[in-house]
Amino acid sequence: MTRTVFVNGSYLPETEATVSIFDRGFLMADGVYEVTSVLGGKLIDFDGHAARLERSLSELDMVSPLTMDALLEIHRELVRRNAIDEGLIYLQITRGNPGDRDFAFPDPYKTPSTIVLFTQAKPGLADSPAAKTGLRVISIDDIRWGRRDIKTVQLLYPSMGKMIAKKAGVDDAWFVEDGKVTEGTSNNAYIVKGGKIITRDLSSDILHGITRAAVLRFAREAQMEVEERAFNVAEAQGADEAFITSASAFVLPVVEIDGVTLGNGAPGPVATRLREIYLDESRKAAV
Ligand code: PMP
Repeated sequence: MTRTVFVNGSYLPETEATVSIFDRGFLMADGVYEVTSVLGGKLIDFDGHAARLERSLSELDMVSPLTMDALLEIHRELVRRNAIDEGLIYLQITRGNPGDRDFAFPDPYKTPSTIVLFTQAKPGLADSPAAKTGLRVISIDDIRWGRRDIKTVQLLYPSMGKMIAKKAGVDDAWFVEDGKVTEGTSNNAYIVKGGKIITRDLSSDILHGITRAAVLRFAREAQMEVEERAFNVAEAQGADEAFITSASAFVLPVVEIDGVTLGNGAPGPVATRLREIYLDESRKAAV
């Protein structure tokens, strides 16, 4: 089946969808994105992703080409047209095609932004084998720019981080800056010590994960203790357990950091329980 995608107001077969070579997303990574997961044909935490998208756009003086209600309808239509049961919707908005390459931003009212959405089917998304085995991670220097709270398409270093992890024979990398873990290449990072969940506090040093917000809310509702502060690799290696969160991975346990096994090397009870709660509650609230 040819995938149907959405480009600048039209639903098209993916083979017919095009964007200009002058688009600032292509030339300058001048764009923002969101990834929303789909479970049972419904969108998980759409409102959270829409709110973060608006914030990313406004931080970069970009104008949304569509209302958030219109975006919700496009997400739903793509789920329908592509018969997605489990998978992802990727959305990208760039500063468009001003005609020539120039460092200065074009006037947003003269150069409309480019908007693209597409689906990725992922049967078994909620049934990841990694939930049972856990992930192994290494730490690497965080050399990204300083506005990681804006979800830009500038993803070269996170991609390099994944490749460094792959070459080292592990699953992912955690970024470290000034001796403290910031986050994973495409996820937020947590440790658990004495029943307490510890994760870096929100600032421009990390992406404000939509899954992070939901998981911390569910943890507090379940009377689990949460501390939002930075931690270092040694503290993580000495923790009882660790885990990551993201819209596509949900909650996944981490069982090894820089070659050191955490606890008995099996996914911990807190990560396992949070994954269950997150999946249950998110399915109930899906739209
Ligand atoms: N941090 C980074 C750097 C990410 O790329 C992501 C996923 N896009 C996250 C955290 C997790 O965010 P979310 O839960 O909104 O997917």
